[in-house]
This record gives sequence, C-alpha cells and structure tokens, in this order.
Amino acid sequence: MIKVGVFGASGRVGRLLLENIKDAEGMSLSSVYVRNNLDFAIDPSVLVTSEMKAFLSACDIVIDFSLPEACETLLEQAIKTPKPLVIGTTGLSQHQLNLLKQASEMMPILYATNMSLGVALLNKLVYQASAALAGFDIEIVEMHHKHKKDAPSGTALTLSQSAAAGRGLDIDKVRVSGRDGNIGERSEDEIAVMALRGGDIVGRHTVGFYNEGEFIELNHTATSRSTFSKGALRAAQWLADKEAGLYSISDCLELD
Ligand code: NAD
Repeated sequence: MIKVGVFGASGRVGRLLLENIKDAEGMSLSSVYVRNNLDFAIDPSVLVTSEMKAFLSACDIVIDFSLPEACETLLEQAIKTPKPLVIGTTGLSQHQLNLLKQASEMMPILYATNMSLGVALLNKLVYQASAALAGFDIEIVEMHHKHKKDAPSGTALTLSQSAAAGRGLDIDKVRVSGRDGNIGERSEDEIAVMALRGGDIVGRHTVGFYNEGEFIELNHTATSRSTFSKGALRAAQWLADKEAGLYSISDCLELD
C-alpha cells in the first residue's frame, strides 16, 4: 500500500484528491499538510500537520497542487528529506524550476502542468502539426475560471513549447502573450499565447494553425477537475518505485 501525502489539500484540486484516493487501488492517504486548520472532516487516522518534516516522514510519496511559493518550500524540505514527488502546481519561476531539477537528482519527481491524458496527447499532436504545417501561424488561446492566479496557464505554456519544438524554435524568443496598440504586423515565427478568465471554466485550450485559405484548430476542454486529481494519482502509482530523476506525464502514460 503506497502512503500518499497531499500538499494543498484544502484547494480545488486537493479536495478532490482526498476524495478520489479512497477509490485508488493500492494507495491510501497518510498525511496532509495544512497552514492552519482543515475546515472539513477527515479520517482521524490521517496525520494533519503544519510541520513539513512530519508531513514528509508520514508518507511514501507526495502529491502537490498548491502555489509556487508553497511548492518551493516543499522542494527545499524534500531536498533535506528526499521523497518521490508528483508536482502539479503551475506558474513556477525559473528559480523554482531550477530547484525542482536540483531536487530530482535526489528523488523521483514527476512534474506536469496538466495531468490529463487528453492534454498529454494534445502536446504530441501540436508538435506534429507544428512541424508538418510549416508557414502556418500558431496562436494559442486558453480559458480558465476567474480564481486562477497564474497566466498564461502552465498547460498553454507547455503547448507553446511543443509548438516551438516542432519547428526547432526557442519559445522564449518567439512567444507573445499580449497585443495592444499599434504593434505592427504579426511576425512569421511568433507563437501567441493568450489568456481569458471568467466564471467556473475548468480549463479550455485551443491551438490554432492559420494559413491563407485554411486553418486547423486542436482543442481540449476539461469538464471536471477530477481529470487532474485522478491523473495525479495514476502518476503517483507509476512514480512510487522509480529511480531519482525528472519525469513527465508522457513518461507515465508511455506516449513517446
Ligand atoms: P487553490 O487556490 O484552490 O488551492 C491552493 C492550495 O494551496 C490550498 O490548499 C492552499 O491552502 C494551499 N497553499 C497556498 N499557499 C500555501 C502555502 N504557503 N503553504 C502551503 N499550502 C499553501 O488552487 P487549485 O485550483 O487547487 O490549483 C492548485 C495549483 O494546481 C495551481 O497552481 C493550479 O494552476 C494547478 N493546477 C494544475 C493542474 C495540473 O493538471 N497540473 C490542474 C489544475 C490546477
């Protein structure tokens, strides 16, 4: 039985993790990290703690859906007390990504900006389409609920990296994430990533390839957050016995 620790348990995805884990084969919830108190009931056998060290010691693997600063604290502690980590938090800074890479030399870490099977496949399709449709303009639009804090979404940024990789481009040199004013014509290589926010949209991503005379759009819509929580549990099951290293959701789903 794999003992799972949940970091970010009171959040939108975290709460679903606590529910879904009850039905997950070979896994049980052992610890939950909280900053204050949990405002809902939980099985009394689960350790609920604000002590990071105790939280890590009580589990075999951690699943994190929190905020970048919180994820950073988790990584710093995990470097001292290594533990397999499934990280779903998005909006990580370059420093936090470097810390994640450093930590992955000591423990297995699966980092995915989107835990769904559909988006994992979409990334592959975007790479292929980008390479095949040379000369088509690439524009990405993402839509999320109004409470989302980071923009563009981690998923949209990963999709833009797949699109850039398909053409051998460096995404940091070609990404545009806002247009306003008299900015001139679109340049050939630019890849736009635009963010819309509103209501309770779980997550919608459209990657469009536009040419004169035709366009193609690849679209993914998440209709329930449980696609992320269940995906993270599947990832945890897969990661638990892996060697130290940095893994992707494609590794877990064997999509390569
Ligand atoms: P949320 O705001 O509902 O929850 C955030 C959680 O983090 C809460 O439990 C909060 O208490 C906790 N937290 C905040 N600051 C903390 C701190 N300093 N220390 C410890 N815990 C802290 O957010 P959400 O919608 O559940 O999303 C969480 C993260 O997961 C976001 O970054 C979001 O973009 C990302 N996300 C990823 C995927 C994926 O598939 N990878 C899917 C959905 C959301």
